[in-house]
Amino acid sequence: MRPQILIIGCGFGGLEAARALRRADVDITLVDKTNHHLFQPLLYQVATAGLSAPSIAAPIRHLFRRQRNVTTLLAEIVAIEPQARTVTLKDGAQLHWDHLIVAAGATHSYFGRDDWAPFAPGLKTLEDAFEIRRRVLMAFEAAEREDDPARRAALLQFVVVGGGPTGVELAGTFAEIARHTLPGEFRRIDPRQARVLLVEGGPRVLQSMPEGLSERAREQLAALGVEVKVGARVTGIDAEGLDITTATGPERLLSRCVVWAAGVAASKLGRALAEATGCTLDRAGRVVVEPDLSLKGHAGIQVIGDLAAAQSHAPGREPRPVPGVSPGAKQMGRCAAANILRRLRGEATQAFRYRDYGNLATIGRNSAVVDLGTPAGALRFSGYPAWLFWLFAHVWFLIGFRNRFVVLLDWAWAYWTYDRSARVVAGAGLDGLSGASPARDGRADGCRPAG
Ligand SMILES: Cc1cc2nc3c(=O)[nH]c(=O)nc-3n(C[C@H](O)[C@H](O)[C@H](O)COP(=O)(O)OP(=O)(O)OC[C@H]3O[C@@H](n4cnc5c(N)ncnc54)[C@H](O)[C@@H]3O)c2cc1C
Repeated sequence: MRPQILIIGCGFGGLEAARALRRADVDITLVDKTNHHLFQPLLYQVATAGLSAPSIAAPIRHLFRRQRNVTTLLAEIVAIEPQARTVTLKDGAQLHWDHLIVAAGATHSYFGRDDWAPFAPGLKTLEDAFEIRRRVLMAFEAAEREDDPARRAALLQFVVVGGGPTGVELAGTFAEIARHTLPGEFRRIDPRQARVLLVEGGPRVLQSMPEGLSERAREQLAALGVEVKVGARVTGIDAEGLDITTATGPERLLSRCVVWAAGVAASKLGRALAEATGCTLDRAGRVVVEPDLSLKGHAGIQVIGDLAAAQSHAPGREPRPVPGVSPGAKQMGRCAAANILRRLRGEATQAFRYRDYGNLATIGRNSAVVDLGTPAGALRFSGYPAWLFWLFAHVWFLIGFRNRFVVLLDWAWAYWTYDRSARVVAGAGLDGLSGASPARDGRADGCRPAG
């Protein structure tokens, strides 16, 4: 029997770990609850109709078709049994492992207010992206049918909560859709009248970036027509809009399209692991790991990626936390694979060291901010060069040649035409937005009454 490696999750961490073991004399079982690996950094493009889902997702089975030591299974893991060295699937079946890598990622956190979720979807999965896209496009459709000016204004008010990279990208693109993509296609509304608000609780957007770049991002958002409210704490969200508190007092924002980009919580598999092993979780529910990414007292279990509260251990430097970004997950995947091979050879494992290649965020067409750590120091730039850098970096890291080609083609088309190619929403109707008055009045499909 060859050693049995079980990897839970085929996101950035799990994919990289399985690939790093391609030449190893082991059997790998890769389990994911979806059938695809998802390139989350471009998920906002699906949510804003810029790209279709297959451009940023690839079937896991196809990705590993040539790696003979990998068996791919579609299943959700619900429990981990360290003593028996098994995991339990949602349907009750069990899988055995000799070495386990848990790479189940993270989800959104509503900071204890899960009742806000139906009114303000977050962006993590393809389903989330489809739902946000539906809400945005249907809000314009409902506004076209609405006679009441106040209701129409609420339908044309889009609010993004959270001024991190995802919030900035979404708000910038909503503004572009309203200003450049849709004008000319509606007869009763002017989409350019839409108001896009970005609500951030902290003092500035993109807080992980240096202050100067945050300011550039704010200027570029303003140029696109996004209103940024910083120091604004959300106190309630319902079907009609949200309540915020700012330095000037409470405020009610009426909106039928609110998107949540504010908080991250670790996968619930972290809690299952804590119950089974007694390991510590941090405030976000992430699993606190040893320097070599294993669990204290359970050397055969390693936790990586967004689910791990890991530290980088560079020689001669204080350990520092690893950020929840894709390079961190990929590097941890490679480290976990290498440590399994070291254990199999009877060697000591190595501590994880994170190599930080910098930070980038796009705001919209021709605008982005880039903060690169280079051997000579920091290299920071914004605007068009940053946008070009962002574009090629993302295309480069996409999985699969076809995806790179299709994305470049779609973006080139969108650049010259302002069109967004993925605007078809199947069977959506105006669910949840049907305040549109012509229908309420019993008039046919938004036609104005004669006379
Ligand atoms: C909208 C968005 C934009 C982002 N933009 C950037 C960016 O621009 N740059 C950047 O570096 N990072 C970005 N990130 C962060 C980056 O995507 C994450 O850091 C990275 O995906 C973490 O990798 P992971 O392998 O830990 O988890 P994930 O990539 O989330 O993968 C987890 C996998 O585990 C599977 N899974 C979960 N639970 C189970 C279970 N119980 N059973 C079986 N399978 C399970 C999931 O289906 C998923 O495939 C972004 C994230 C999001 C959501």
